[in-house]
Amino acid sequence: MGRTQRLRRRQASESTTVDAHKQNSLQALYVQLHAQGWQNSTQLSAHSYVQTGRGLCSKRRSFVAGDELIRLPVECLISIATLEADQAFKGLFNKDLFDKDARISFQALIACYLMHQKHLHDCSQSSHIGVYLDTLPRSYTTPYFCTIPELQCLPESVLERTVAQNRQIRDYYEILKTLVGSQYCEGCGQRYCQEIWSLAEYRVAYFAVNTRSVYLNARLLKLQSSKSHFQPLLSGNTNLALAPFLDLFNHSDAVQTTAEIQGQDYVVTLNGLPIPEVKPYDQLYISYGALTNFKLLTEYGFWLKGNAHDYFEVSLLDIEHMIKLNKTLATQTYHRNIFKFIREHNLCDQMFVHLDDGCSHNLRVVLHLIFKQQAYFPNLLNQIAFGDVDQFDDVQPELAYLVAHKIREYQIFAGELDKLPQLTESGAVARSYLMECVRYLNNFEAAHCASVSDFHNKE
Ligand SMILES: [Zn+2]
Repeated sequence: MGRTQRLRRRQASESTTVDAHKQNSLQALYVQLHAQGWQNSTQLSAHSYVQTGRGLCSKRRSFVAGDELIRLPVECLISIATLEADQAFKGLFNKDLFDKDARISFQALIACYLMHQKHLHDCSQSSHIGVYLDTLPRSYTTPYFCTIPELQCLPESVLERTVAQNRQIRDYYEILKTLVGSQYCEGCGQRYCQEIWSLAEYRVAYFAVNTRSVYLNARLLKLQSSKSHFQPLLSGNTNLALAPFLDLFNHSDAVQTTAEIQGQDYVVTLNGLPIPEVKPYDQLYISYGALTNFKLLTEYGFWLKGNAHDYFEVSLLDIEHMIKLNKTLATQTYHRNIFKFIREHNLCDQMFVHLDDGCSHNLRVVLHLIFKQQAYFPNLLNQIAFGDVDQFDDVQPELAYLVAHKIREYQIFAGELDKLPQLTESGAVARSYLMECVRYLNNFEAAHCASVSDFHNKE
């Protein structure tokens, strides 16, 4: 999986006391989950793997498609039911202050809950999920945690996503601070919104939820009271939960799994496997969904080599940059109306290249409109873009230019990252992602673009 040698070396050089600490905290988690009724019927245990870091296997049994991977009592999950049952946590939020124009997502609220419990754990060892908190990573490797110099070496698409995440997290944090006001911790007397809940901690908690939560149908949860305290604060549904231990399963694009509540249990079942069986000690994977490497990187902080669900997305800005940099294309004139038309009709959404399927429909239409059409009146553009005429096959040279342009751009970004004195883990993962994109695009070029050498001479 997507970790670089560099990252691996750094992890290997971390002191063994960290590993020992993690092992102890996992041991404590086993004990707690067993006390809550977990049988571990599939005999799972955690291991450290070279490719993925921590993951799960069974020491004793093998698995075939159709087998249950884990059956965890719903009570072990941290869900809306957990938050609604926590009187102290609810007490921090005065319902009268809820504002329908300042709602937060459930993910944002669970992140707040984690941060709250973390303080109780550190301040007075009074968190009832303290054992779980000890098993959580202290940092995450999404580009969100890149340093500013690293971010400056990343592509527009990654940067845009990171900026959007940042805006969202800050907004939620401000709302939470306003709601909690000047309430203070009884253990240490510090005020929540000032001394205790820092933005830095909230960010880490937010990504703990982002990277580790599982989907569940919240309507199947048994709530203690039919009256929800948090509902007026929340936008959207509450269909997610943190799942201690279960969240140690890593993702694979090659397996199919389902997860659902069955009676008192949350059950994950293995539905499809690329091999006949998974043997004892081999890592067991689940599927987080059919996710591209871009999504895996920006939301989870890793990527997969040769990801079966991958495709490479391009933007209108990429095409505009390509025009500027290509001597032949830069000398032509392009009518403003064409770009306006593309934007207004959202033709620039869903522009991507796919290794097996080639160029997406919208990308083909957009390249055709920009490079092959003399017309710039909206009614004519409409006929071309949405008519049934199959005339978009002549964009091959431009597609080849575009792919070669992105390959070069990503190579330059990687080179810029290499010039930095050192990379954070996030920076190293992002760099390795860029190289995987280059590999993907090179393969695409070989399979779908004939006249590339032409382009290199012209640029
Ligand atoms: Zn305190």
